[in-house]
Amino acid sequence: MPGSRADGTTPTAAERGKARAVLNRLVKRYPDIGTALDYEDAWQLLVVTVLSAQTTDENVNKVAPSLFERYSTPGELADARPEDVEKIIYSTGFYRQKTKSIIRLAQDLEDKFDGQVPRDISELVKLQGVGRKTASVVLAEVWDIPAIAVDTHVKRVSARLGLTAESDPVKIEFDLMALYPRETWSGISMRVIQFGRDTCDAQRPQCGDCEMFRLCEWPDRFEKAGKPSP
Ligand code: SF4
Repeated sequence: MPGSRADGTTPTAAERGKARAVLNRLVKRYPDIGTALDYEDAWQLLVVTVLSAQTTDENVNKVAPSLFERYSTPGELADARPEDVEKIIYSTGFYRQKTKSIIRLAQDLEDKFDGQVPRDISELVKLQGVGRKTASVVLAEVWDIPAIAVDTHVKRVSARLGLTAESDPVKIEFDLMALYPRETWSGISMRVIQFGRDTCDAQRPQCGDCEMFRLCEWPDRFEKAGKPSP
């Protein structure tokens, strides 16, 4: 049985059918997709995800090898001197704040989970600086554990396509989980994020060339595509 949305309603068969059509198009466009961040395990993915705020994945991938060579375990990073870490991650921007965040994350991981990243969303979000979005990315990416991460792209694209009427990320997560079978969850976020970057841009969506046009419910799509609205 399908689950309930954030407002307690259950998606209709037609709504689930449309959601499936959206995902089928995304899978066709992005058959194999994962994060562009380089990592070797859950711990490293947590750290590089923090570092990826406000910068490109490419920038993070340039500094990550030096960081993990110097601090190969959460325990080592937990005891690091901030000024040493700052020098390594400087080029990713906001380096003071990010240094504080990853050291705190490492300390927290040591103190609460003996340095082992938990495989459970309700445990993961107990870590400093780890929200449901990051936790979902880690679960889906590292262990293929069903989870849907809702970031700004997922929020925007889901709203435009009419997959949710919510604006709160946790409620959107529930709405998407209600629409899609559990076994597909871990493949949704990364594809929607990439689609949001490539086509359904916040300011300049390419509605005229979009394979979702007929499925889309965003009123401005006609104007953006240069087509008369019906
Ligand atoms: S038609 Fe436009 S708004 Fe709708 S999904 Fe495509 S790019 Fe986004």
